[in-house]
Amino acid sequence: MVQTTTQHQTNLNHKLVLVTGGAGFVASHLIDKLLDLGARVVGVDNFVTGRKQNLPQHPDFKFIEADAIQPPEQYLVKPELDLDQPKFDYIFHLASPASPPRYQEYPQVTYRVNTFGTDRLLEYLKKTNPQGKFIYASSSEVYGDPEVHPQTEDYWGNVNPNGVRSCYDEGKRMGETICGVYTREFDIDVRIARIFNTYGPRLNPQDGRVISNFIKQALAHQSISIYGDGAQTRSYCFVADLVVGLIELATNPSAKGQTLNLGNPDEYTVIKTAEIIWQAVTGESIRSNQIQYMNLPGDDPARRQPDISKAQELLGWSPQVTFADGLKRTVEFFRKNE
Ligand code: UDP
Repeated sequence: MVQTTTQHQTNLNHKLVLVTGGAGFVASHLIDKLLDLGARVVGVDNFVTGRKQNLPQHPDFKFIEADAIQPPEQYLVKPELDLDQPKFDYIFHLASPASPPRYQEYPQVTYRVNTFGTDRLLEYLKKTNPQGKFIYASSSEVYGDPEVHPQTEDYWGNVNPNGVRSCYDEGKRMGETICGVYTREFDIDVRIARIFNTYGPRLNPQDGRVISNFIKQALAHQSISIYGDGAQTRSYCFVADLVVGLIELATNPSAKGQTLNLGNPDEYTVIKTAEIIWQAVTGESIRSNQIQYMNLPGDDPARRQPDISKAQELLGWSPQVTFADGLKRTVEFFRKNE
């Protein structure tokens, strides 16, 4: 993969950055990249879904075990870490359960961290460094079960406000609302990433998502669990590509106040996903008796594909890693971490 460092990204050198959900899948890759670019990073996580093994050992990284729902004033006072109400140049708010089985297991945590958590972090930034930038990890889930395909940022979505997914969907939508209020009322520089399905090394094998489940099942030569008829679609972005997009969103001056889709438009049905993963793991074609059809969970979106033309235009960003290459690296990770 060729990913050059842009001039905006080099501006991160020596900057102080807070990343909530730092032990999570996406955030931990983001932290690695921020450290590579010379930033000083503070990670916060309470390990509801994040994992200690994802945290880096690095002289410019500090970790605080805390709940990002709480006011930051309470957890950002750690004399032993040499921190006292620091002024962050950037706050990335990624803390939230993100896989459907996990956010449905922790529905209150999920809506609270995306609403109270977002509000409190923005309030902290407003008080301590109103010039700082806030990057909110929203989701393609704000589009719900979309009637517009592919999804553009100006589409308002089709979300069940009181369904099994709404703690996440509406939590993210309210998170965006809060970001908008701080932009309009207080002129805080907020940038929103609507993150589409992402995969790669450090995906938690227990998270119950499509990619992790299928790789795990194929490695164990167990049948692949397809929910519904498998005709629903998703578009998968390799995590390294997403991280470059997030950093470009944070640092590019033309992204101030913008909401951008970040994802890979390469779209697959779930059945096709199963065929590709089975082939990548076993080297063989999947047979019909290796597929187990199961009930489709509630409110499962039928189609999902990002329109990324806005990110391409504003940031010059588009994903570089093919599904085949990304899967190879992800399967390697699963083989080593079984
Ligand atoms: N899915 C599946 N089998 C699994 C896990 C997921 O068929 O073992 C389907 C799920 O119903 C959805 C898609 O794969 O249509 C993506 O699911 P995931 O949980 O990864 O995230 P979502 O995109 O729904 O948030």
